[in-house]
Amino acid sequence: KEVLIEVKNLKKHFKISKNSVLKAVDNVSFNIYKGETLGLVGESGCGKTTCGKTVMGLYEATEGEVIYDGVNIHKFNNREKKEFAKKAQIIFQDPYSSLNPRMTVGDIIGEGIDIHSLYKGKEREEKIFELLETVGLNREHVSRFPHEFSGGQRQRIGIARALAIEPDFIVCDEPISALDVSIQAQVVNLLIELQRKRGLTYLFIAHDLSMIKHISDRVGVMYLGSMVEFTTSENLYKKPLHPYTQALLSAIPIPDPKEEKVKKRIPIDGEIPSPINSPPGCKFASRCKHAMEICTKEVPEFIEVEKEHFVSCHMIRK
Ligand code: SF4
Repeated sequence: KEVLIEVKNLKKHFKISKNSVLKAVDNVSFNIYKGETLGLVGESGCGKTTCGKTVMGLYEATEGEVIYDGVNIHKFNNREKKEFAKKAQIIFQDPYSSLNPRMTVGDIIGEGIDIHSLYKGKEREEKIFELLETVGLNREHVSRFPHEFSGGQRQRIGIARALAIEPDFIVCDEPISALDVSIQAQVVNLLIELQRKRGLTYLFIAHDLSMIKHISDRVGVMYLGSMVEFTTSENLYKKPLHPYTQALLSAIPIPDPKEEKVKKRIPIDGEIPSPINSPPGCKFASRCKHAMEICTKEVPEFIEVEKEHFVSCHMIRK
């Protein structure tokens, strides 16, 4: 498997005041293979969106590296940044606020084409028509405005906009969370089809594991800015090792077909603590049923317990 992106000890910290730092992404390492879908999951506030935006260069890293095709994107000069902006795109969570209401669909999709001077005149027009059809809309939609479309259609426009400059890598930031359940599968199926036809690589961000399960090859679970478990989808569902992953999985109400019973839900007590000035040790300690003395003192290492299965927990030894 060919690595497209390597994330090494990535930190994205925001200084809130003189004595407060929000550690949105705190020493995270993983890689993304070419052509795969990597799921990134965790409760809101866990840093997954900040991580996605830092990986695609929308935020500067505080520390660490994001290596894309062998080069650290945070060391790019302006010309290289513009080149990279053509390769990495993002689909936003909210199709209602992410499209400019005063722009026509044609102009929204054409914006990236113009910025990067990809096509002009008739060719540009044809490209926009083709993109509309690719995402299941039609050419008559080109002169309409976002408010004339449903949520699902708006997300299709967002996907067409991302595809317009023919990227290799797309960060899908909770692209279906704001949509009706009946529409979610359609948008996911469209993303899967586009990946198959265009060889796209996705970083797919979600707050629960239910949809991630269907779309991801591998999954990273984040908690309070840290990656707590990272493995293949199969491993994650068959043998989750981190107590937080186990709790997230138990929240998916899927009956076990063999035993014909619903998996027992493991409750996670309390809210996710504030990521500002987070305590030492394991960040999950305040909510973990298995917490031991060492957990509040030492940060557990992120170790590879078996091939392609990383976990950060003092209970787990190699
Ligand atoms: Fe729980 Fe300790 Fe493991 Fe953290 S390190 S998940 S507190 S057992």
